[in-house]
Amino acid sequence: MSLNTESLRKILELEHRKGYVDSAVFGGLDKFLRNWAGRAVESITDPQLLNRFHKLHLVNPNYALLTKQQRKEWVKTVLNFLAEEEGRETKKSRAKPTAVANKLSSRSRVSRTVVNQSIDSPITVIKGISSSLATKFGKLGVKTVRDLLYFFPHRHLDYSQRKSISQLTEGEEETIIANVWQAQETRLGGRRSTEAVVGDETGNVRIVWFNNPYLAKKLKANMRIVVSGRVSLFNGRHVFQSPEWELVEDRELIHTGRLVPLYPLTQGLRSRQVRKLMKDFIDQWAWQAEDFLPPELKERCDLLELSQAISQAHYPEDETIKDRARVRLAFDELFLLQLGVLSKKRDWQESQSGNPFNIKALVLDAFLKSLPFELTAAQQKVLKELLVDLQKLQPMSRLLQGEVGSGKTVVAMAALLMAAANGYQGAFMAPTEILAEQHFATVCRLLSGVGHQEEEEDYLCSYSGVLSHPFTVALLIGDINQVRKRELQQRIASGEIDIIIGTHALIQKDIEFNRLGLAVVDEQHRFGVTQRSALRQKGFSPHVLVMTATPIPRTLALTLYGDLDLSVIDQLPPGRQAVKTKWLKPVQRESAYAFIRRQVAGGRQVFIICPLVEESEAIQARAAVAEYERLSHEVFPELRLGLLHGRMSAAEKDRVMRRFRSGELDILVSTPVVEVGIDVPNATVMLIESADRFGLSQLHQFRGRVGRGTEQSYCMLLAQNPSEVGRQRLDLIEKIQDGFELAEEDLKLRGPGEFFGTRQSGLPDLRMAKLSDIALLELARSEAIKLFEVDPGLEKFEHSLLVKELARIWPAEGGEWS
Ligand code: ADP
Ligand code: MG
Repeated sequence: MSLNTESLRKILELEHRKGYVDSAVFGGLDKFLRNWAGRAVESITDPQLLNRFHKLHLVNPNYALLTKQQRKEWVKTVLNFLAEEEGRETKKSRAKPTAVANKLSSRSRVSRTVVNQSIDSPITVIKGISSSLATKFGKLGVKTVRDLLYFFPHRHLDYSQRKSISQLTEGEEETIIANVWQAQETRLGGRRSTEAVVGDETGNVRIVWFNNPYLAKKLKANMRIVVSGRVSLFNGRHVFQSPEWELVEDRELIHTGRLVPLYPLTQGLRSRQVRKLMKDFIDQWAWQAEDFLPPELKERCDLLELSQAISQAHYPEDETIKDRARVRLAFDELFLLQLGVLSKKRDWQESQSGNPFNIKALVLDAFLKSLPFELTAAQQKVLKELLVDLQKLQPMSRLLQGEVGSGKTVVAMAALLMAAANGYQGAFMAPTEILAEQHFATVCRLLSGVGHQEEEEDYLCSYSGVLSHPFTVALLIGDINQVRKRELQQRIASGEIDIIIGTHALIQKDIEFNRLGLAVVDEQHRFGVTQRSALRQKGFSPHVLVMTATPIPRTLALTLYGDLDLSVIDQLPPGRQAVKTKWLKPVQRESAYAFIRRQVAGGRQVFIICPLVEESEAIQARAAVAEYERLSHEVFPELRLGLLHGRMSAAEKDRVMRRFRSGELDILVSTPVVEVGIDVPNATVMLIESADRFGLSQLHQFRGRVGRGTEQSYCMLLAQNPSEVGRQRLDLIEKIQDGFELAEEDLKLRGPGEFFGTRQSGLPDLRMAKLSDIALLELARSEAIKLFEVDPGLEKFEHSLLVKELARIWPAEGGEWS
């Protein structure tokens, strides 16, 4: 060895972990470095190495005087140098292997940063990770060094408070440092186990490790160990049962006496093994994570360095810095997400010039006057927002949120009318065929108020007196016959049809538009980013309006649909009644059924939602069939029941829905998976089984199926044995009618991602970010906007790492960053 690199490297790694505050060694780094370099320089014989060594200014770095950023860079340079040297040493010792050299190189952790290894290398480049171990990590989604850096524990055990043995409390998680007095194999409950007695100056305590006889050999008398675990009472005396333990040595603790990470495991990965491996790995690799955030942003937002955040997220020094680490990593996720969606929006709006509409006031006024009601203030406000957008050269990109029944369709219809008045076509897409039909019926009804019906056939209606040409609306659905379908497609392609109503799939696949000017997408939460851009490719960069009745809190909407502008109809038309909601105890089931009988006797209709079955759709369908049988024969033999589940064909489902809507059925029994987004004003009762197992938003969606007419409506919730969270949800849904308020509560109750799986929306995963973390989300968004203001094309040198990171997070998007 020409250099003893290990001690310096360890110190610098520690300095890095502590955040470059010159606290890695007592008395400051400068003093340590002078000593170390003074000794090291004597051992260097190679003149080239000596030259490089001097360039590092190790003898007199004036570390204390450097800024944090300078310190960081300097440390990185030196670590790089050391890594290269160590790499060279390993190669040398490999070249002429002796028993001793082999042992040395495998013990000192040298083989790491040989030149070609990068953060994107497979994890087998990491010391201690064999290919079989790598396969196991692969099962957890960890393939590269970067994956492993971001392989965060799901939580930490707080073993940081040390106690003396006399202070131990039964039932608590405690940590002690003690001497081993004796350890021996013993039998506990018929299993070979280990029993030990350890002591400190205040007393002794017994420890047992069930099922682990091997420890008896490892634990020798007079060893000093740290023990962390729960204290229980046995025969009136304290005992630790299978606690974590480790030797007191000249190194940082890993399993005890600190915040101890709990990593996700899989078969063949043991927690102690993973912890040890992660500790070594993080110590050696974390500093290599390149920080892609611009320094002044980090400063402004008071964020930790990336590598420090990574280290601290794994092995935090205390709770405070652990939180700061999470904040930094969560900020990264939200910031990159915002940059991505914002730049998509810019892209979409700037690369394509849209079709600015003229607002034909006469046409619009005639339409609005023809309505049997006045628009609510909220509808008027939103319509105005739409009209402003539609007149712009840039295509509109707007999300319209509004509770079920808030009147989104009319507003969308007014916008579609403007498209037609300007000679463009409009597409209106629904999530299901039955909803498409419902829209078609609504639109035709609305139009018959303004114009004179010219043509009415199945799937097509046409009105004169609305525009200068006959205003024509077509419905395109699956079970339309082929000849008719081809004819409609042909008339759409020729531009003869103004508005096309259908499902998402149909409009995306089967139609050639003549001049698509506006696309309205109903129930947007099923309509991901990718589908939206697919649609945009298809037409002539149409204005896009997406609508949803799923109340999404504003912050969440900005995260998931940050590329959209947001409009909200936050008011229901007058005269709507709140749905009376009641959580019933199991013993009240019979009275619920009696209530249903009375409502049906009064001419009303009822929905019953079957219990949520976690297993496959097939099992769910079977359960629904059984419940339907039970209800039909045992509970309501005198009533007319229908059944709806996910295993039925679209035609079967349609038939049942239609019968229910036309009043041929009294009760519709349905699995939760089936969309019951149908408008049946006569339905006044919604009964939900095992209601405690649904999320608040979903319960609210179910409840929205009733209360659409003038009659008082009811929602009854049954729950067998609700958990604590289940109870909270039931309490909330009973009390709160407002969907947005409920959604905010739901966000608080549920973790990130769960509320609204980000995966299905085609957006990057959020692992550290909590969507309830509103302030951080707003910060990330405003920083993203700021960044685009100062550097619209992200072309500045200081943003090059960021651009790289963006390209990684948002791959294959037309290469705008690569
Ligand atoms: P959404 O799609 O938002 O759930 P719809 O557009 O289907 O709601 O409207 C629900 C019902 O309310 C429809 O029957 C519609 O005609 C009616 N409606 C819409 N706006 C008003 C209003 N301003 N006043 C009274 N009724 C309205
Ligand atoms: Mg609707």
